[in-house]
Amino acid sequence: MRKLASIQRIKKLEPIEGADAIEKAYVLGWQLVVKKDEFQPGDLCIYCEIDSLMPPKPEFEFLRPRGMRIKTARLRGQISQGIAFPLSFLPAGFEVAEGADCTDALGITKYEPPMPACLNGVAKGTFPGFIPKTDETRVQVLQDVLDKYLGETCYITEKLDGSSTTYFLNNGEFGVCSRNLELLEDAENSMWKVARELDIENKLRSLNGNFALQGELIGEGIQGNKMKLKGQHIRFFNVFDIDHSAYLDFDRFTAMMNFLELPTVPVLSTGYVLENDIEELVRKATIKSTIHKDAWAEGIVIRPVKERIELYNNHFVHNRVTFKAINPEFLLKYGE
Ligand code: ATP
Ligand code: MN
Ligand code: MN
Repeated sequence: MRKLASIQRIKKLEPIEGADAIEKAYVLGWQLVVKKDEFQPGDLCIYCEIDSLMPPKPEFEFLRPRGMRIKTARLRGQISQGIAFPLSFLPAGFEVAEGADCTDALGITKYEPPMPACLNGVAKGTFPGFIPKTDETRVQVLQDVLDKYLGETCYITEKLDGSSTTYFLNNGEFGVCSRNLELLEDAENSMWKVARELDIENKLRSLNGNFALQGELIGEGIQGNKMKLKGQHIRFFNVFDIDHSAYLDFDRFTAMMNFLELPTVPVLSTGYVLENDIEELVRKATIKSTIHKDAWAEGIVIRPVKERIELYNNHFVHNRVTFKAINPEFLLKYGE
């Protein structure tokens, strides 16, 4: 679960050229602008990530013009992500500890973009328990993971700004799911339409076993169609083997997509040697989309080509690592 607000340390502070009232702070892997002299290096603060929806309390009213939402901003040429508040904003009795989650204690919720009409459907049920929901963690909170996996050969895909879609076949039953729900078949629903166009059900039936295909639906009517596509399309990023409860690794995923003649998300690199440098990864994510050269890409998704296998208590454990770096220019341009 993403911690929208947590107790974090101000790692360092730096002056901003030409600005005397503000300075630049580093918290986790994030950079943000703070009022000068409000914090000292090493201080603890309440750090609220972008997408935090603040409650209607006087101390947060300055966010009213932005719909109470914390967004990516650019101040004096500095990209600023998130806001640091003093610990005095915590409710009485909150136990201060570095890393502690204070999202609920402060009444903060998450901003979620509205669901487009073409993706509305009638729920058949909740998302099936035998398939993981799609998700990617932001690199800014993963310094530990970078330290551990540094040097690992990774592949990088373009992160597409659409809507998460899962198709599965399980014991003879074909299913279509949005991010959080399984949907009844419906000719008006884009996820079902695309499934029929691409003959996904029969393709899944041609396989030996139960599998889920997970991808991003993009195009007209979805997330403002920033890549200016005609119609609607899906690009896949995961194949999950339901019988073994495991994702296919990159080579198997690619082989399966080729066999099924289904398109993957754009693969930008297959030989990236992971660096433990968050700023560099955010720079790598600051690119134009390979699907439309005039649009900013939403970012990148990075995964080791091979899963690292470790032995814990005499059991092999597959450590699946996958994370995203979001393009700050994308957030500034399309953050509405
Ligand atoms: P957050 O958890 O940061 O609040 P979120 O959970 O709403 O945000 P996104 O920022 O959309 O999620 O990032 C995760 C989603 O990105 C996945 O669920 C998937 O639908 C989508 N996605 C798009 N392109 C890719 C890709 N290339 N690889 C993996 N996932 C991708
Ligand atoms: Mn998420
Ligand atoms: Mn998304």
